[in-house]
Amino acid sequence: MSVTEPTGYAAGRQFSTGTGPDFRVLDIGHKDWVAVVEPRTAFWSLVAKTGLADTLTEAAFGDAYRKKAAAFDAEIGNLRFGLSPSAVYLNPTERCNLNCTYCYIPGDLRQGGSQMDVPSLLNALGILKTYFQKELPTGRKAQIIFHGAEPLLCKDGLLAAFEGFKDDFRFGVQTNGTLMDADFAAALRGYGVSVGLSLDAPEAETADRTRRTWGGAGVHDQTLKAMELFRGYDELAVICTVTSGNMAALPALVDFFHEREVHAALLNVVRCTLPGARLLKPDEKELFGHFEAALERADELRKRTGRKLIVANFANILLALMAPAARRLMCDLSPCGAGRAFLAIAPDGGAYPCSEFIGLPRFRGGNLFADSVPEILASAPFRQVVTRDIDTMDPCGRCAIKHFCGSPCPAEAVEMNGGIERPGAYCVFYEEQVRYALRLIADGRAEDFLWDDWDQGTTTSFEL
Ligand code: SF4
Ligand code: SF4
Repeated sequence: MSVTEPTGYAAGRQFSTGTGPDFRVLDIGHKDWVAVVEPRTAFWSLVAKTGLADTLTEAAFGDAYRKKAAAFDAEIGNLRFGLSPSAVYLNPTERCNLNCTYCYIPGDLRQGGSQMDVPSLLNALGILKTYFQKELPTGRKAQIIFHGAEPLLCKDGLLAAFEGFKDDFRFGVQTNGTLMDADFAAALRGYGVSVGLSLDAPEAETADRTRRTWGGAGVHDQTLKAMELFRGYDELAVICTVTSGNMAALPALVDFFHEREVHAALLNVVRCTLPGARLLKPDEKELFGHFEAALERADELRKRTGRKLIVANFANILLALMAPAARRLMCDLSPCGAGRAFLAIAPDGGAYPCSEFIGLPRFRGGNLFADSVPEILASAPFRQVVTRDIDTMDPCGRCAIKHFCGSPCPAEAVEMNGGIERPGAYCVFYEEQVRYALRLIADGRAEDFLWDDWDQGTTTSFEL
């Protein structure tokens, strides 16, 4: 996609004609403001409702946009098509000691799947180190995230990895926390590993409905003990998978996290890739009501205590609007980050665009122990995911907020909606989040929902 300079027959002298800007008006549900969006370049501006017609027909608005259009186009184009991998989700085991109802890894793998021994894990990291040394600028460390099933089943391998590669990678671990103990927590803190811990509700009765052992026992108490071991740790994020069963608990969950000095949480709506998860898909309007209430609660707590709890997945949507290149998560963009900003490695070395695809063998793009990373990235399964182009999707291609939503997730689109070019599972939820984000910006509140250093290294590219 490129923004064509107005020439010849398609002069584009007016908005909405020829090659002119495709300004769309978006009702953001605010009493005074609407948004004007140019979907192709992800440009937007808030305009007073009372002055909408004048603004759109004043030459200054269109002229100012035209001067910057190529820069906007380049910025969103680079994010969508110009990135190369800088992270790997490394799954050292397919096994898990839990049987959560919504897990994206098939149950037979989680019970009897393969597991990397320590030499294989170190070998995998050695291969990745060589690749990233060639590809990344000097001094920039790639990120390795040990991911599920349950990586703490491989504690020895993880400790060997941290020690052997501490100068080469930034490490993260995503865990259910039930195998955490004080020694391992101290090691994670010592190596500066970022920790993602899963907890779905403040009280056991709700949380244990979805997160439980193979025997059906709840694990809420064990997870809380693990959380205590990281009290106040800057590199902790607690991850709640939001379903129809726990969405009403989101505001209380925010209180619960804030009391325990959690700085960042992800309130991730359940991915509908596997049929078991689809049974828990929340009603999207209702979901957004609870989600908004949780965000507002986090802000009340900030005002009262001076301490922020950042809901990182929503903060990412604010960033997509305010500073697109500063996004920290890569789901809300199309193509998403899968297979281009990162890749996922299974315990047998199998390579997938994202962990979300690990239960789908046709998306296996090679093997880290047999194929080079460039061969994997160029494989047909990876190409299928990285060429998922929202501009060609219906109805997303004509959606005003397509570059703030991205219509995630391609794995859901394939499994739930019948094809990778189909929309993902949560159109209404995204629409509401973007409108709410724009309302916060209109009211001058957006920074209250963002990390304090969110704008480090950003520049203002448009002011009118
Ligand atoms: S899923 Fe919905 S909100 Fe997202 S881009 Fe598609 S049409 Fe727009
Ligand atoms: S949208 Fe899906 S496939 Fe893409 S990065 Fe997110 S979880 Fe992975």
